[in-house]
Amino acid sequence: MPSGPTLRFLGAADSQGVPRWWCACSVCRDARGGGVNARTRPSVLIEGPERVLIDAAPELRLQASREGLTGFSAALITHAHNDHVLGLGDLADWSRWTGARCPIYAPREVMEALAARFPYLQTASYRARTPLLALEDAACSRTFAGYRVSALRVPHGFNGFAYGFRFEGPGGAWGYLPDCLDLADLAPWRGLKLLVLGASFFREAAPKAGRSVYDVQEALALLAELKPKRALLTHLGHGVDARQGAPDGVQYARDGLVVPLP
Ligand SMILES: [Zn+2]
Ligand SMILES: [Zn+2]
Repeated sequence: MPSGPTLRFLGAADSQGVPRWWCACSVCRDARGGGVNARTRPSVLIEGPERVLIDAAPELRLQASREGLTGFSAALITHAHNDHVLGLGDLADWSRWTGARCPIYAPREVMEALAARFPYLQTASYRARTPLLALEDAACSRTFAGYRVSALRVPHGFNGFAYGFRFEGPGGAWGYLPDCLDLADLAPWRGLKLLVLGASFFREAAPKAGRSVYDVQEALALLAELKPKRALLTHLGHGVDARQGAPDGVQYARDGLVVPLP
């Protein structure tokens, strides 16, 4: 076990999870049998001086019990899509029943979407323990598990936009970029110690206009430009078969994987 801060993958699947409940493809059959392709939707946990959750997948409750977690110090949300936020109700209820405080931080426009989506989080009893806070606010200029975080708005294909997070700590910088297609501003993402990048198919056949995330081939091309020291692919759909192993230079994330952070 690494002694410094770590990143724990609570879920490494794309928006629909693997198996897709309606699908009988070979990857979904493997996943249904508990094989290496079984994955839940995207949440990760930074474990350091604090336990910072990034995104709250619909399976958050199951992910937390599987990993033996008892709580979080704060949550960061990349964007207000179902696969990243529908575990917020479980997060708020955990906080309500235990009395633990866990502020939920998101870029302002995401925070506003969350407030509209979960109006009860705006009531006094929830606001006291799980307040929705805009990352941009000066009051939020805090570190997260020892890292300064920059929220960077990124294109998310036909789904509009999402944010990726760039973390800067004493040991260097790393990034979490699960939902993105056609990244335009590469500069903040170059030369990281670790980059976690979303790729949902191995080779996507659908035209780009109807898509919202990279496929593995496109992710590899982008990584060749960004040159992170270590690269992990996540947000993996049933178009990625982990039994075949990842291409050279990258690793597929999987539920329960723990990697050291810089
Ligand atoms: Zn997603
Ligand atoms: Zn999304």
